[in-house]
Amino acid sequence: MKSKIDAFLDLVKERNGHEPEFLQAVEEVAETVIPYIVENDIYYGKNILLRMVEPERVIMFRVCWVDDNGEIQVNRGYRIQMNSAIGPYKGGLRFHPSVNLSILKFLAFEQVFKNSLTTLPMGGGKGGSDFDPKGKSDSEIMRFCHAFMSELFRHIGHNTDVPAGDIGVGAREVGYLFGMYKKISNGFTGVLTGKGLSWGGSLIRPEATGYGTVYFAQKMLETKGWDISGKSCVISGSGNVAQYAAEKVIQLGGKVLTLSDSSGYIYDADGIDAEKLAHVMELKNVKRARIKAYLETYPDAKFVAGKTPWEIKCDIALPCATQNELHENDAETLLENGCICVVEGANMPSTKGAIEAFHKAKILFAPGKASNAGGVATSGLEMTQNSLRFKWTRDEVDNKLKDIMGNIHKSCIEYGTDEDGYVDYVRGANIAGFVKVADAMLAQGIV
Ligand code: GLU
Repeated sequence: MKSKIDAFLDLVKERNGHEPEFLQAVEEVAETVIPYIVENDIYYGKNILLRMVEPERVIMFRVCWVDDNGEIQVNRGYRIQMNSAIGPYKGGLRFHPSVNLSILKFLAFEQVFKNSLTTLPMGGGKGGSDFDPKGKSDSEIMRFCHAFMSELFRHIGHNTDVPAGDIGVGAREVGYLFGMYKKISNGFTGVLTGKGLSWGGSLIRPEATGYGTVYFAQKMLETKGWDISGKSCVISGSGNVAQYAAEKVIQLGGKVLTLSDSSGYIYDADGIDAEKLAHVMELKNVKRARIKAYLETYPDAKFVAGKTPWEIKCDIALPCATQNELHENDAETLLENGCICVVEGANMPSTKGAIEAFHKAKILFAPGKASNAGGVATSGLEMTQNSLRFKWTRDEVDNKLKDIMGNIHKSCIEYGTDEDGYVDYVRGANIAGFVKVADAMLAQGIV
């Protein structure tokens, strides 16, 4: 088996050797899915995985815009249309200086499996730009978004490719992007998700990734007879996912000890309660300040510069910041400190070494493509509401989100349970995500 996996990875490396994040994501899938393909006649010999690692289309374009000083700025825009076997391409846009082809291809590849797991008819895609929103004025953000969409619009559509937010792209950016799309296409369609409530957005969409991650954690804990109430929780990040993961943990009676951003983390030993979290939301979403500013209002908390929060003792860890933010040594520290459950809110935040350490210790560990799928699932629900020209209530969407997370959990158990009863959620998510897409590809022939 190892030689089959190695031969496959050698080929992928030959073609994508300069794309470390993409290779990391492919390796994780190959190691779990190739054994399954070999055991199953309908997939064996069809080169399905090789077809899946090649994007159906990669779009790269120039984005020129004028900054507040009248200077012309040039950025690079991308959209990876990875796989449309089970529905229109679907996935977020990321605006961050680190954005490159490797990062977007890994995200688009993960999105294919994640979207398949949601049970909704969505293919996988991802896009974005190396544009850095940090320190930009509101009108610079608007000009950039408009310039970006003035090219992207010709490649997307509500039945073709439906982008949404990701790091650096929130409600404000989706608004500016939607405004330009509507103007150029002269059509009011559900071409983007994460829209404002008064113009086609869905209730619960802003909360969905964070809430869904915690709903998934609840399901995992339940398998051991545990729950979130009374558990200490370390969360990284302080953006949309981290904020609403924290909100749900607090609502369920857990204690949130940390939040972070790229400059370091805050540690509040008394717990970040609902009132303190509201303050964080004001700081991050309205003032667009750094997390360190928390200490101006809550001076008893600590700020630890330049570090991630994994050194803080906890029962549950929720990495909700970005890829490769939790390394093998961090995993060892979490385990030494008695952590029993790690659930990814971000995409691929744990390195391969970290995941191996969690599996070896047989603790509960869920990969983002399963546990953070609530965001894109609720985007799928937004698309449905747009098509129906209808709006579900908050409770209706929240209940559908809970059901979807429960179903993803079931799929992971179905495909990921080892002989000794340990659930390998990575294998479960990869195989369950793969099967649906692979079956659709087989049915549609060689295209
Ligand atoms: N960027 C989110 C993700 O990683 C959401 C994508 C979407 O809603 O299309 O899944």
